[in-house]
Amino acid sequence: MPRNRGVVFRGTNNIVVEEIPYPNFELNVPEQRRKCPHGAIVKMIATNICGSDLHMVRGRIPPKVGTVLGHEMTGEIVEVGPDVENFKPGDLVSVPFNVACGRCRNCFQGLTSACLNTNPLAAGGFYGYYLGGGWQGGQAEFQMVPYADFNLLPLGNKSQAMSHILDLSFLSDILPTAFDALYRASIQVGDTVYIAGAGPVGLTAAACALQICGAGQVIVSDYEADRLKLAAVMGCETVDMNSVAGKTHGIRGVIRSFLAEESSIRSWRPPREERSMSTLLSTRRALSAVATTAFLA
Ligand SMILES: [Zn+2]
Ligand SMILES: [Zn+2]
Repeated sequence: MPRNRGVVFRGTNNIVVEEIPYPNFELNVPEQRRKCPHGAIVKMIATNICGSDLHMVRGRIPPKVGTVLGHEMTGEIVEVGPDVENFKPGDLVSVPFNVACGRCRNCFQGLTSACLNTNPLAAGGFYGYYLGGGWQGGQAEFQMVPYADFNLLPLGNKSQAMSHILDLSFLSDILPTAFDALYRASIQVGDTVYIAGAGPVGLTAAACALQICGAGQVIVSDYEADRLKLAAVMGCETVDMNSVAGKTHGIRGVIRSFLAEESSIRSWRPPREERSMSTLLSTRRALSAVATTAFLA
C-alpha cells in the first residue's frame, strides 16, 4: 500500500506534514462511521491553500487537532469503489469542496453545500474543515472522495488537461466561488461591479466580471498595494482602503467615496432610501456590489 502524507492541524499556528493512513472506502471517525462503496481514491496532482484554511490555522475556527486540511483538490483516480459507474482509475478529476450525496432534498435543489446526508453535525459536509463531518482533507497525497459519480468533475483529455492542470485547479473552489457571487448579484452586460477584496477569489471575480459577464466597469478595493496592482493590470479601477478606512463606513461608503472622485460614472446616483445589503445586491443596471471573503483569501 502506498505511503500517504498530509498537512495536519496540530494547534493554532501549528501545522505539520505527517504520515497519515492510506484511505479506504469507509469513514471511521468519531463524527460518523459509514461505508463508502460509492467513493473513489484520488492521488493529488494540485491542491490550493484557501483563505478558509487560514481561518482555521490562525485559530478563528480551529478544527479538531489531527485534522488533515485542504478542500481544493485536483488529481487522478487510482481506485474506485464497487458502486462507482462513471469513473475509472486513470481519470483526471476536479473535486468540489462540498461533500454532497446528490440524493437528499437539498442536493436535489442544487444546495450541495447544505447536503443533509454527509455530516451528522450540521447541514453540509466539507473536507478537512471545522465541523465538516470528519472527511479527510486534500492537502495530502491520497484522499477518498465519497459519492464519486455525483461529486467528481472529469477533466477529459488527459494530456490536454495536464498541460493546464494548475489553471484547472481553480475549478475546485476559487472560480466557482467567484462566479457564483457574480451570478447571485445578477450582473448584467454593461454593469458597474464593486468587489470588496482583491485576494484570489476577488481577483477571479474581477476577471469573470470583465471577461464572462461583460461588466462595463469593475471597481476593486483592498488594503494591499500589490493586490491592487494586479487588479489594475486586469483593467479594474482600484480603491486603496488605507485611504478611505475610518473616513467612510461599509460598502456603500466606499462606493460613494469612489464615485465622488470618478467623474466618468458620476451620472449614477445611489438610491436615496437606505437599502439592505440584499436589496443592494439585487439592484440591476445600477451598481452591483459583490462582497467576497477575499480580504482573507
Ligand atoms: Zn477554498
Ligand atoms: Zn445531499
